[in-house]
Amino acid sequence: MPPESKLPAPCVVVLVGPSGAGKSTWAAAQFRPELVVSSDRLRAVVGASEDDISASTDALRLLDEIIAARIGRRLTTVVDSTGLDPVRRRAWLALARSAGIPCFAVGFDTPAEQCRARNRARPKPVPADVLSAQLRSWTQARADLPGEGFDEVLAPEPVRVVPPEFAVVRTGASTATSEPPAGLRFGLHIGTFTPPGGSASLAAWLEEIAVGAEEAGFDAIYVMDHFRQIPQVGRPWEDFLESYTTLSYLAAVTSRVRLGALVTGISHRNVAHLGKIVASLDVLSGGRAVCGLGLAWFEQEHRAWGLDFPSTATRYAMLEDALRLLPMLWGPGSPSFEGAVLRVPEAVGYPRPLQAHIPITVGGGGERRTLRLAAQYADAANVLGDVGTVARKAQVLRRHCLDVGRDPEQVALSHLSTVLVGHDDTQVAELIERHRGRHQDPARYAAANHAGTVPDHVGRVRSLVDVGVGEVVVRVAGLERVADLEPMAGVIAALR
Ligand code: ATP
Ligand code: MG
Repeated sequence: MPPESKLPAPCVVVLVGPSGAGKSTWAAAQFRPELVVSSDRLRAVVGASEDDISASTDALRLLDEIIAARIGRRLTTVVDSTGLDPVRRRAWLALARSAGIPCFAVGFDTPAEQCRARNRARPKPVPADVLSAQLRSWTQARADLPGEGFDEVLAPEPVRVVPPEFAVVRTGASTATSEPPAGLRFGLHIGTFTPPGGSASLAAWLEEIAVGAEEAGFDAIYVMDHFRQIPQVGRPWEDFLESYTTLSYLAAVTSRVRLGALVTGISHRNVAHLGKIVASLDVLSGGRAVCGLGLAWFEQEHRAWGLDFPSTATRYAMLEDALRLLPMLWGPGSPSFEGAVLRVPEAVGYPRPLQAHIPITVGGGGERRTLRLAAQYADAANVLGDVGTVARKAQVLRRHCLDVGRDPEQVALSHLSTVLVGHDDTQVAELIERHRGRHQDPARYAAANHAGTVPDHVGRVRSLVDVGVGEVVVRVAGLERVADLEPMAGVIAALR
């Protein structure tokens, strides 16, 4: 199978070519029928048939109206007309531009003789002189297209419309033969606790998922440290397990993966107590604890339980104090700690962790302060965002490291995102349909959840690695049963 161009969703695709060139045939093979707006089909809708010339004006007006409405809704749109009128062609391009949507032309350079032959073979051929005029217009269009400002002028070869992060317009380059990235780690982030059987089945479900995650090749399992489900993910009344209880359960049912909260809210509990909890987790898990720390942000969950939610400045001070305190608490003796806002007269806790050094990950991409703290004190920084954003965070982190005299190699970059992975396009489409909300546009759901095939994800992970990511943490969208981890296992296997 030839490698295909991956066009970013949403996009506008304008077909250009004479009658019989194969435009509708190609469009039908590449796109779901809902995405294709065809002047011929519209002629049959407002007129008697696809060849009802008297309906042409109405059909073209409708075509423009539908295209404008779809582009206005940021929906991928394939314009299936001859595309030979340069004024209308450029008007569609301008519409896409003003909506900020990429616009591609596909030029159908089918030999004139073939167009004529196919035309003659049709039940209702286009008059020969009309086709001749179209063939002349095509010669002109073919020359003009490269200079008209389309993102790319494509030949009618296989294309797929994919979330922007997977989009690669074919350049001939292939990463299929690249070496697996050295030292790359994968984490599974479990952020929902709503298995089909409800809370009575949670323990068994978690065990199955955790054991499955180890088998799938994940190096770590993370949970969220919240008191209720967060609004970005679900409803406040959804079942949602407490973080460190869950992690100690996971310690008992797994044997290899690292375990941590991504990330522990700094204002969620007394910080010395947190140190005690993480040390216990380390001992019970055989030295597999990771300590994720972050600023905390969800004010409502603090208020609900009467917890203080200190100002941002105070929480930053707490975070910095914690980054200094925790290694003392895990270390020898019982030193007294006096930070900017935290005071711990006896930083002591037994048993001491099994690990000589419990790795600390600071969550958050704040460039001025959060990444600075990570550079100063932590072993990793966990960030969100697309490859471009991550590239910038990596640079900022590196600069902070150099500023504070830390070897940038010692502070890993960890990346968290939601993924939806299928073995092939059909499975990806099924998963999108199964998991998207009732009013959610499939393409938008796909983009938000990075829906793609195993090769798509292998490429995405590679581009994250290229900008400096050493740990890829994924929340698997719609994770219901252990089989849902299989495609992701394929991604991990391809990168080992
Ligand atoms: P029009 O502008 O008249 O709508 P079109 O460019 O959409 O033309 P199609 O309807 O896709 O052209 O194709 C015209 C004929 O050519 C059809 O009978 C179709 O089966 C045949 N055809 C199209 N593409 C191919 C192809 N790649 N190989 C063989 N036959 C093809
Ligand atoms: Mg057609």
